[in-house]
Formats: sequence, structure tokens, C-alpha cells
Amino acid sequence: MIVTHINGTSDNVCKCGSWLAHWKNHSGQTLPLYCPEDGCLQKPEVGAHVQIDNSADRSWYIVPLCSAHNRETGKSLDVSVSVMLVPAKAGRTCGKREEAVARTASSSERTPTRI
Ligand SMILES: [Zn+2]
Ligand SMILES: [Zn+2]
Repeated sequence: MIVTHINGTSDNVCKCGSWLAHWKNHSGQTLPLYCPEDGCLQKPEVGAHVQIDNSADRSWYIVPLCSAHNRETGKSLDVSVSVMLVPAKAGRTCGKREEAVARTASSSERTPTRI
């Protein structure tokens, strides 16, 4: 999949703490052994902001990249389709998690058990 690496802001990080943590929390995947860029054998170390090329979807996504590829902003990258793109917009992903936590808390009424 061709994506453009955009110069995403490193501040404005959601509760996850870092964009790489955000990717791990929401992708449900384990960090790939290698940077997902085609042919790169470096370890992915940072969560980079990308936009999907040739798509009407202009939203920002997070994908793990090695630090060398993360430095090259404004370039197109051919990333492996097996690596999930996680929406960068914190409200759309991290907010959902909070809801789930709130729901679990309210439904955990204790039922007394008698022997
Ligand atoms: Zn997050
Ligand atoms: Zn790389």
C-alpha cells in the first residue's frame, strides 16, 4: 500500500503516551520485527503519521516505522498491507476505549454469594 509520510506533530499525543504505544493499543497487533517499508530491515521504533495515497480518505493514520524512515517526511512509502493503519485522531480510537471501560465498571455489581 502506498502512503505518504506526513510531518505529523509529536505533541498532541493521546493518553497512550506515544504514537507507537497508540499504534500498539489500537492495532491489536504485535510490533512487526521489521519496518513495514518494502525491503527495510530496520526495527520499527516510532509511530509515524501517514496519509493513504490515491484515496478520498485524507485522515491521518499511524504506522510503525524505523527511525531512519521516520526522518524522511513528505515521501511516499510502500508499506506492507499486513501492518494495520491506526487512525491518529485520538478521539476516534482512544475515546472508544474509555467508553468500554466505563461500561464494564457500571455492570460489575457485586452479587453476594451465600454458602
Ligand atoms: Zn491513543
Ligand atoms: Zn525503515
